Amino acid sequence: MARDKTLIIGNWKMNLGVHDSSLYLHKLAKVVKIHRNVEVVIAPTILALQTLSVQVNLRQIKLAAQNFYYRDHGAYTGEVSATMLRGIVQYVLVGHSERRHVFHESDKDIRAKVQAAIRNDIRPILCVGETAGEKAADETKDVLFDQLIGGLANVTSEELEKIVIAYEPVWAIGTGKNALPPDVTFAIQAIRSQLKHLYGAKAAANIQVLYGGSVTADSAAAYLELPDVDGLLIGGASLDAHIFSGIIEKAYTIKK
Ligand code: PEP
Repeated sequence: MARDKTLIIGNWKMNLGVHDSSLYLHKLAKVVKIHRNVEVVIAPTILALQTLSVQVNLRQIKLAAQNFYYRDHGAYTGEVSATMLRGIVQYVLVGHSERRHVFHESDKDIRAKVQAAIRNDIRPILCVGETAGEKAADETKDVLFDQLIGGLANVTSEELEKIVIAYEPVWAIGTGKNALPPDVTFAIQAIRSQLKHLYGAKAAANIQVLYGGSVTADSAAAYLELPDVDGLLIGGASLDAHIFSGIIEKAYTIKK
């Protein structure tokens, strides 16, 4: 997808069960307009995806899985594959900092997941970002480069078009300390410059790059107005349908 759409993604993490997810979707669907410049995506618990996939109007709201395993089938007790998610979700989160840091997912796991998503016609949202220590040591660019190379190894330039990158500084996720807009521009420009190096100028200019990290109803507009930001990945503030729909409203009015 080209950069003509603003993506607004709500990551509910391990919150809202099946019933509450369904009620939330019902509320959100009443207020979300079908807008050709804005794509709204929600990532509920994996348990709710099947129910929500029947309930949702995909022209209005799309679904994402928060996690999956990179093999398609087999003896992997407890896991869910991208093959199983195919037809139920349109997006998957890959490399979210909570997966990297709490569950110790490596670049090798992350790249296998990117491949699995693409193989199953699901758009991966590859999350990258530095920790507070790495920021303090002025290593942001290096960390982003390593995570991009690690996650995108084996991805062709045609496949790159299906990928969304989310710049999510680890220190900003769930902390209330959102990144300053100039720092977001700096990081996203570094991401595009690395992608240019890897895939050429056209691919780098066309890829959608989002910001995520403690975005609120009050701070959303400042990011959406940045020319380099193509949307937002929102955790905490997406748990309230009223706040989340307020952010979506802002995206309607801030034209790409
Ligand atoms: C996230 O979960 O990706 C996220 C950005 O969370 P929060 O908005 O709560 O910081």
